[in-house]
This record gives sequence, C-alpha cells and structure tokens, in this order.
Amino acid sequence: MCGIVGYTGPQSAFTPIVEGLRRLEYRGYDSAGIALGTNNSLFVEKRAGKLANLEAALPANLPTVHSGIGHTRWATHGGPTDRNAHPHLDNEGKLAVIHNGIIENYVQLRAELEKRGHKFKSETDSESVVHLLSDARKENNGDLAAAMRSVCKQIKGSFTLLAIHADAPATIVGARRNSPLVVGVGQGENFLASDVAAFIAHTKIALELGQDEVVEITPGSVVVTDLSGQ
Ligand code: GLU
Repeated sequence: MCGIVGYTGPQSAFTPIVEGLRRLEYRGYDSAGIALGTNNSLFVEKRAGKLANLEAALPANLPTVHSGIGHTRWATHGGPTDRNAHPHLDNEGKLAVIHNGIIENYVQLRAELEKRGHKFKSETDSESVVHLLSDARKENNGDLAAAMRSVCKQIKGSFTLLAIHADAPATIVGARRNSPLVVGVGQGENFLASDVAAFIAHTKIALELGQDEVVEITPGSVVVTDLSGQ
C-alpha cells in the first residue's frame, strides 16, 4: 500500500503531483505513474522502479495541464513491471484509475468484465476497477462520482481510489475503504492524497475522508457523499 496524489487548480499539475509523491516516498514503492488531463485526452506515463525512472521517461515538451493523478505502487497482484504500474485505463483510454490496497473479488469481476468485452492489459487486481467504473459512468450519464459510488458497492477489500476522465479533466473523484484518503482544501485549487505530507506545502486545511465515502473535487469545490449519494 503506497502513495496517491491528485490535483486540480491553476498550477501546472505535474509539479504538485510529483512533489507530493516524493513526500510519500518514505512508504516505499516499486513503480510510479501519472495521468494528466489534457483537452479531451489523457497524458499517461508509468514505469517500474523509482520516480526518477518515470521522470526520465517523460517528454521534454510535457503539456502544461492543470489536473491529474499520480501513484506509487507496492505490488500485491502482478509483478512490478511497467504494464502493471498504475494508472490503468479503460478500453477507450479516456478514463484513468489509480488504486492502493487490494480488490479481493477481482478474479470474478475480471471474468465478468472480459465477457462484456473489456480488454485487460495488466495482471493486477486494480485494473478491474477502471473497467467497472467505465461501464458505471456510462450508466450514470457521465457522472463520475455516481459511478464511483456504484463501483464501491461492487468491490470487496481495501482501497484508496482516484479517477479522472478526459471529457471533464478538471474533476477528480476519489473513494476509500480500510485505506486512507485526505482532501487538501486550497484557494482555487484542491488536492487528494493518502497522507497530508503530500500537500502540506500548499495548504494546511485538510479533511479526512470517512470510511465508504466518495469525494469529487474541482478547482473551486469539494463534495463528499456516502454511498447512497447523501
Ligand atoms: N493491489 C494493487 C496492485 O498490486 C495496488 C497495490 C498498492 O497498494 O500499491 O497493483
């Protein structure tokens, strides 16, 4: 169980995300990855090994974007390879999910999702979540938070999850069960992370997400709901 960071606001998102991941390095990890929300598409890079490997793999002309999610992984299901690193993407490559924890019912979920035409690219338990979320988002008319609530009811185990979709990249949705997730409330910007250490340089206002709660952040709003949508 390692580190998770999300950012949405006026800063170039890459900096607070990678800085945040670096501040979580004490947790130890074997891979790192990011998804940045550009206009109508996601920029995704992930690498086994240290954050430096991820940074070395990035193009010099990395697009300046204002939201994204970043992950450090401690492999539990599937070896520490580039392919098994997070984020994981849906079939269209427009939805990215990062996960810390363990999805206990992933074998059954994966079999059902493959039958429905979802193409898996990794050996992780986590990848089931992005495919489930992709279907749930369509069923909920593009509402990512509603989709996340539905997914949380279908998965078993422990998780901190963050998701970003290319069609509404300024919105980041998170959820947690038996694994930490903290919201950093800034001025015109908001953060999500597994530990306040990730964003303490930017804001001292933190809100701990409760068990089985879902959070949706944009640069100007933080909305927390339980799994019934209240
Ligand atoms: N179980 C997931 C995996 O192996 C997430 C591990 C983690 O918490 O970093 O990919």
